[in-house]
Amino acid sequence: MAKPTNTEEEFFAREEAEKLYKLHQENLKKIKAQEAEDQQKAHAMKCGKCGYDLQTIRWRNVDVEKCFRCGAILLDDGELEKLAGKEGGFLASFNGLFKS
Ligand SMILES: [Zn+2]
Repeated sequence: MAKPTNTEEEFFAREEAEKLYKLHQENLKKIKAQEAEDQQKAHAMKCGKCGYDLQTIRWRNVDVEKCFRCGAILLDDGELEKLAGKEGGFLASFNGLFKS
């Protein structure tokens, strides 16, 4: 068999590097997905302020998560509007803070 030329060697090296890079990218995606899942498992239904378990309370047809240790309240997206009503001063300007 003929000795591969430099160009051939370079071609295969580059191909190998690209393959490894793709593998690395896929691993990174898997790791990130796993991290997100772990994070969710670790923090779901935990108080963002003190880390205590949150309790779900149904209030005005909205499930409100409440921490009985520090008193913090967690609302899902849109729940603040449901509780407070869409129209009106404070809430409109508060929500305006997060709209781009
Ligand atoms: Zn708390």
